[in-house]
Amino acid sequence: MRKSNYFLPVLKEVPKEAEIISHRLMLRAGMIRQQASGLYSWLPLGYKVMRKIQTIIEQEQLRAGAIQMLMPTLQPADLWRESGRYDAYGKEMLRITDRHDRDMLFGPTNEEMITDIFRSYVRSYKELPLNLYHIQWKFRDEIRPRFGTMRSREFLMKDGYSFDVDKEAAEKSYNRMFVAYLRTYYRMGLTAIPMKAETGPIGGDLSHEFIVLADTGESAVFCHQDILKKTIPPRDTDFTGDLTPIIDDWTSLYAATEDMVNMEEFERDVPEEKRIAASGIEVGQIFYFGTKYSKIMKASVTGPDGKDVPVHSGSYGIGLTRLVPAIIEASHDESGIIWPVSVAPFEVALLNLKAADDLCSSVCDDLYAQLQAVGIDVLYDDTKDGAGAKFATADLIGIPFQLIVGPRGAKAGEAEIKDRKTGERQTMPIGDAVSYLQTQIEPARRNDI
Ligand code: ATP
Ligand code: MG
Repeated sequence: MRKSNYFLPVLKEVPKEAEIISHRLMLRAGMIRQQASGLYSWLPLGYKVMRKIQTIIEQEQLRAGAIQMLMPTLQPADLWRESGRYDAYGKEMLRITDRHDRDMLFGPTNEEMITDIFRSYVRSYKELPLNLYHIQWKFRDEIRPRFGTMRSREFLMKDGYSFDVDKEAAEKSYNRMFVAYLRTYYRMGLTAIPMKAETGPIGGDLSHEFIVLADTGESAVFCHQDILKKTIPPRDTDFTGDLTPIIDDWTSLYAATEDMVNMEEFERDVPEEKRIAASGIEVGQIFYFGTKYSKIMKASVTGPDGKDVPVHSGSYGIGLTRLVPAIIEASHDESGIIWPVSVAPFEVALLNLKAADDLCSSVCDDLYAQLQAVGIDVLYDDTKDGAGAKFATADLIGIPFQLIVGPRGAKAGEAEIKDRKTGERQTMPIGDAVSYLQTQIEPARRNDI
């Protein structure tokens, strides 16, 4: 993408309404625009990051056996009357009446709708296990939307739902999502710790929240520091096999959110020097809630013995629009964002330091074509702006590598490459730059193990 053709409205001023660094940087980098309290437009740069996050989620869901679909944002109130949650949900639910005076709502989550779909089609245990998910906008009329897209009213969530014949099978489905989540966050460059969590309005008796430690996080959490050293399950993990050893390993050390923590246990089980009592950002949550919805909404299957049993379910959420600021909270410096390559809006910023210089521009045009030809996602700053402004913008928007060519370098056949994360700069022959960048970017792009 040529910057001269792009829409990248970076701000010079630090927006004063933004309280936390990720919110300030997302506004300054032209990633989002607030349209009303808790409602945001995703501008091109921000949207690109979100799409990359979405792709990683989709790849890992597929690997774990979940099937993607799409349900509407609006739901009929009757479904929620059936489950009893229409009245229970309270003011966070946005209620809407259509022209025929029918009660509707903007979905805050989809347990009811997916249970309705399930009961309409599935009859036998032989069709199980089944895990269906979608990535769709949710609306929760939060009392205090804040921190930009970290806590907004409309937000994009991946929500999945598993269906199994009994509790034992349902736990296997839960474990598959547990492992998929570990891999998903890792691939985005995040360390997310699974912690015992309360089930809240979703209900049920088993739940983990995935927490990114950050001073600006809204959740108080308690865990053993060595959890941070646990190994991520590799790509060739057999999701059809027994995942309990992985789950047992990850849950062997103490980790609980504020709602679930038992201070006595925490102090008994974790030596003082290993205790983390900190703030964190909840980037996902998984639940096993058994037959809570299937009993009341009559979603049953015929079991192996020919008798009907209510299906056992779990639900699994990841907040995409919260992940973007969470990654920024975890990865930035005083100059701006530092994107991990796997979610970076562009992989390389090609900076033409003097667009008015013919040789410099022709060298840059050529590099631009070569980078595109090898499939590197490049933002080409071909504008007439000064060098200082170009460096500042590239740093601010956090592109992992800067490929810098000025008139002197163009003449000498040399380019400079800056690694945004380490700040290291190196000069090399222009002819070597593209293959060097390829070797750096290709493994980091998938960030897979
Ligand atoms: P919170 O405790 O932060 O209000 P929640 O526990 O109510 O979140 P879940 O129902 O578990 O949220 O939703 C799944 C995921 O959706 C959360 O882990 C979070 O990443 C994301 N999410 C929930 N509410 C919001 C929101 N208001 N804005 C952005 N993301 C959200
Ligand atoms: Mg939650």
